[in-house]
Amino acid sequence: MTAKISEIFKSIQGEGIYQSLPQVFVRFFGCNLSCSYCDTELFRYEEIGLENLIQQIESYHDYHSVSFTGGEPLLQPEFLKAALKLLKARRTKTYLETNGVLADALKDVIDYCDIVAMDFKLPSSTQEKELWSEHREFLKVACAKEVFVKAVIGKNTEVGDIVKSIEIIKEVNPMIRFILQPENPFEEQLKEKLSLFLGICRKQNINAKIVSQLHKQLGIK
Ligand code: SF4
Repeated sequence: MTAKISEIFKSIQGEGIYQSLPQVFVRFFGCNLSCSYCDTELFRYEEIGLENLIQQIESYHDYHSVSFTGGEPLLQPEFLKAALKLLKARRTKTYLETNGVLADALKDVIDYCDIVAMDFKLPSSTQEKELWSEHREFLKVACAKEVFVKAVIGKNTEVGDIVKSIEIIKEVNPMIRFILQPENPFEEQLKEKLSLFLGICRKQNINAKIVSQLHKQLGIK
């Protein structure tokens, strides 16, 4: 069994609630969305076998977890599941970074995954179609494990999308943490917007936080 993998490397997690912890990153090739703010350059990949992947992961030391990222890792679910299973058997913690729309694929791997970092793709941020029902179904599956939600906030992000995000989080589990991630490069005008959105979350008793992309600030991968 092989998968299209763009890169495998060790760095620190730049986003979300695990920001700054060391991880081994496995970047899957290919994505099913096209967000306007996408900064992931996926031009090439290698077909990598399972054994080769595990060997490469195990060549690294002293990391918190293995982050499966992309692109979208759930587009190659059989390989992902096999890799997660092998790592679980080795007691290695796993972290799935996902765009949060492929609930059926998630159902198949959730038992073997420790942490899910899922995106809410706010239509006013992505400039793409609404994915609320996909996100709702995905979050229901993801909350069998540790999960947090992350949304990119840009100059076009509308308050209605924050309200809708809150509604879904409350419906599934109001304890789920919500990360507001300012788009890069940071523009001053975002300050006011972030503070407004944070206030709305807090009023609704949602555990929200503003977390910017640390790896971009540090100029690392
Ligand atoms: S889901 Fe992620 S990788 Fe895919 S287009 Fe959006 S930002 Fe890029």
